[in-house]
Amino acid sequence: MPARSTSPFIGELEPITESDDALRAILDQAELPPLLPALAYATGDMSLLREDLRPDPLMFLMPNAGLTDEQAAAARELALGALVRFRDGGCVAAPVPSDDDVLRIMEFAVGGTDMAAYLPLLEEELGHAGEDRRAPTWRKDDVAPDVPFRVAVIGAGMSGLLTAHRLTQAGVDHVVFEKNDDVGGTWYENTYPGCRVDNPNHAYSYSFAQRHDWPNHYSTQPVLHEYFGACADALGLRDTIRFRTEVESAVWSDEDLRWTLTVRGPSGTSVEQFDAVVSAVGQLNRPNLPTTIPGYGSFEGPAFHSARWDASVDLAGKRVAVIGTGASAMQLIPEIAPTVGELLVFQRTPAWMGPTPDYHDEVSDALQWLYGHLPSYAEWNRFCIFWRLGDGAIAGVTVDPEWDGKGESVSVINDMMRLMLTEYVAAEFAGRPELADACTPHYPVGAKRIVRDNGIWARTLTRDNVRVLDGGGIQAITPKGIVTADGTEEVVDVIIYGTGFTASKFLTPMSVKGEGGLDLHEHWAGDARAYLGVTIPHFPNLFCLYGPNTNIVVNGSIVYFSECGVRYILGLLGLVLARGAKAVDVRQDVHDRFNVQVDAENRRMAWGASEVNSWYKNDHGRVAQNWPFTLLEYWQRTQSPNPEDYELLG
Ligand code: NAP
Repeated sequence: MPARSTSPFIGELEPITESDDALRAILDQAELPPLLPALAYATGDMSLLREDLRPDPLMFLMPNAGLTDEQAAAARELALGALVRFRDGGCVAAPVPSDDDVLRIMEFAVGGTDMAAYLPLLEEELGHAGEDRRAPTWRKDDVAPDVPFRVAVIGAGMSGLLTAHRLTQAGVDHVVFEKNDDVGGTWYENTYPGCRVDNPNHAYSYSFAQRHDWPNHYSTQPVLHEYFGACADALGLRDTIRFRTEVESAVWSDEDLRWTLTVRGPSGTSVEQFDAVVSAVGQLNRPNLPTTIPGYGSFEGPAFHSARWDASVDLAGKRVAVIGTGASAMQLIPEIAPTVGELLVFQRTPAWMGPTPDYHDEVSDALQWLYGHLPSYAEWNRFCIFWRLGDGAIAGVTVDPEWDGKGESVSVINDMMRLMLTEYVAAEFAGRPELADACTPHYPVGAKRIVRDNGIWARTLTRDNVRVLDGGGIQAITPKGIVTADGTEEVVDVIIYGTGFTASKFLTPMSVKGEGGLDLHEHWAGDARAYLGVTIPHFPNLFCLYGPNTNIVVNGSIVYFSECGVRYILGLLGLVLARGAKAVDVRQDVHDRFNVQVDAENRRMAWGASEVNSWYKNDHGRVAQNWPFTLLEYWQRTQSPNPEDYELLG
């Protein structure tokens, strides 16, 4: 057997006892892209990688991932033969293939060539050979046994738990401060109806804590909240977390070379010192309320933000207004539409919809069987998702300077995507041209977040009790409702703000003061920057996760980004301890040079080139959220810190 995963959620594979006919029925429902790769990996039979049967993971929306029916049938038959031989041989998997063979399998799976640079990255993502290759390579007891060193982690969401796990593995003393009374961050706070992940779960999960038995391809909020809770339990992280405790300020001492945190918890405010601080507070955390709309706050009925869902408000039969049609609103509107009396959808800018037929589907029994019985099928599936949603898709959102897309596309591929998605909207709203028109974006695909759809958006907006108020904007909010641009007052019982988050106000509302008392928010002046999203000059030993320019647009998994960031932070801590120093401070020139590159590259991407408004840009119009390079590049740059990028203090 190949080594099994490090995940606490994955047990031994089940033996295969099914008949040939039963296996054929299962393989009929298998996702094709990972099928032959998994069998080649499990059996060592590289002849299964027949070029004429190679699906294209980027054609995942096409039936059979772009293969003809005949090719698909031949691929399944080939797989059946291999699976039967595997069963008859006692389900004994071949030894872990050589790197050369893994590379061949990868190149087959992505249809690419020259994937060598990706090999180590993807082996990590696969949990290849059952190893957790992102675990710290040092332990404090070995590098600095007698040096007291204590780290504060702010937030116990996805990134904070991950940091706590890595610090535990390295044997570094730490405390996690969490303002809520449970772990999970965004998956704890967002309880609005319909909340679910829009990145397939087989990829949206820790590489070292993968799950094969996700109930849905895109799990719902309760399932994700449970997953992060189960990780905290299985990895023994809860003891270091102080719940209901918010960090109010962090102040660096130039004398002590330490941070002083003021924290407010259940028993009052206290002050504590730490050697390093990791901010894992997330970007999409603080609601963006439309306070600039005249009359905001005057509404007399219940009004709340999607991320502060008020379950005590009974929406049944009520006239409800939802402001916004971003990812959150497009999940909650279909859920509440059948319950409410009338639903008014205030749309300012439509989102591009990515057709996702299985968005709400449960994982079929056949797929669950494959995850549980066929070695590495789940891992190759994860890899195919990783590729098609990540670096495999980046060309589609990269600007071609020669291309004149009249503000609606940035390259020929991007324009093809625009046409395909425009046709999708037209087909979805067939017979309702005014809605098709309202729901067709006029900016490049990828300039704003692409929202997943399985047909539910059109089914919802075409309901008799739903009305879309499009484009004209909102003139005012009144005690009774909302006044539209043409002066009509729409009287409603409830207002729901699906208006997003103050994403570019990184680390707010916390007060942070670095060297010489430098105030971080004054220093940034609304234009947050960091080196690799992690370190900021003059703020020694302050490390950010999901910091400036670390958001990913073409929908790779943000868990991957955090895993890279945490490894980098552990590398920096290891450097400090091994060199007998107290702190690291990133060099200003290194930071500045990096930011020049980031800005230039972001302008070459759909989200930076387009004029359309989005939460990717800050008040200065700069893209302060997004990583413009490949996923590979973030991995390469965060493998281990270059000591020359930093000044060691103490
Ligand atoms: P968002 O994408 O920022 O959407 C906010 C919506 O509110 C937009 O339609 C925006 O219009 C509108 N809006 C904001 N202020 C307004 C105003 N003053 N008047 C009228 N309309 C206003 O926020 P979100 O939907 O909460 O999503 C944020 C991000 O969270 C997503 O992009 C995604 O990364 C993440 N998310 C993920 C999931 C998931 O994984 N399933 C679910 C939800 C959210 P404009 O477009 O014109 O600005």
